[in-house]
Amino acid sequence: MSKAFLYFLIIFGTIFMSENADARTKRHHSRKSVARVAKPIVRTTDDLLADQVRINREKLRLDSVASLKDNSYEEDDLYPALDLYDNNWNTSVVHPLKGKQMYRPDSLVIDVSGFYMPTMGDVTSEYGYRKRFHRNHYGTDLKIQIGDPIHAAFDGRVRVVARQRGYGNVIVIRHNNGLETVYGHLSKHLVIVDQYVKAGDIIALGGNTGRSTGPHLHFETRFLGTPINPEEIFDFTNKVTHMDSYVYYENANKHKSNKALESVVGIAYHKVKSGDTLFSIAEKYGTKISVLKKINKLRKSKLQVGQVIRTA
Ligand SMILES: [Zn+2]
Repeated sequence: MSKAFLYFLIIFGTIFMSENADARTKRHHSRKSVARVAKPIVRTTDDLLADQVRINREKLRLDSVASLKDNSYEEDDLYPALDLYDNNWNTSVVHPLKGKQMYRPDSLVIDVSGFYMPTMGDVTSEYGYRKRFHRNHYGTDLKIQIGDPIHAAFDGRVRVVARQRGYGNVIVIRHNNGLETVYGHLSKHLVIVDQYVKAGDIIALGGNTGRSTGPHLHFETRFLGTPINPEEIFDFTNKVTHMDSYVYYENANKHKSNKALESVVGIAYHKVKSGDTLFSIAEKYGTKISVLKKINKLRKSKLQVGQVIRTA
């Protein structure tokens, strides 16, 4: 009885399969005759393959991130601050949030303690309104020589690598702390879109491309697209940040300080220059030599040029 049933299954199955094969052949032929129309169907397979490659690549990235972070991988690292940016990860537009309606927090703490100076060059043009050109300058210009290495300011992921008329060769990085940094007038890009970078990684070489009248780095710091004066965060003279963290205020004009950023943690730094003494630093930051010695655990009063000391 069961044997007969098995035979029945085999015979029926063979007929069914050969009919299916026929149908497939027919479809295949008809597809061939309208090859152009049918092309997207073929491409579906390619897309799937590409997807698989992408997934594998993503997994590799995840693995490398995980190994860097001692296996303490967090989703935030995949696309830095993605929630904050309302899942927006645009890799072709420098300022994709312009005019976009989205949730914006009233205030948020920004941790800048993991900083690295994008270049050691001094400020050649400050952030702010330029009377001569009747327009705002949304970044700080820093002196460089063509070919100087440009460093990522914080850990993050490269969002845009492009060439534009104004910015010239430009790179945008989104950082885990919620900030985005923009690097303009570069001579050479050394990173690709979606690449993860660590603070200090060399991302490009400085240059004079775009609307630029001499070699310099145009450096912007933005929060959810809103330009923030980089000089409020970075002390470009002493090559340090003024503070470890800041609070960003969405409605700065309603806030007492009238500034988008305000320091939160009372920690400030000073990089020792030639001629600096504990006395001169204490005077500059309105503190006492004994306080500087205590918070920096200094036993001697002698300072070394380049040494970074806490001043508050
Ligand atoms: Zn500039």
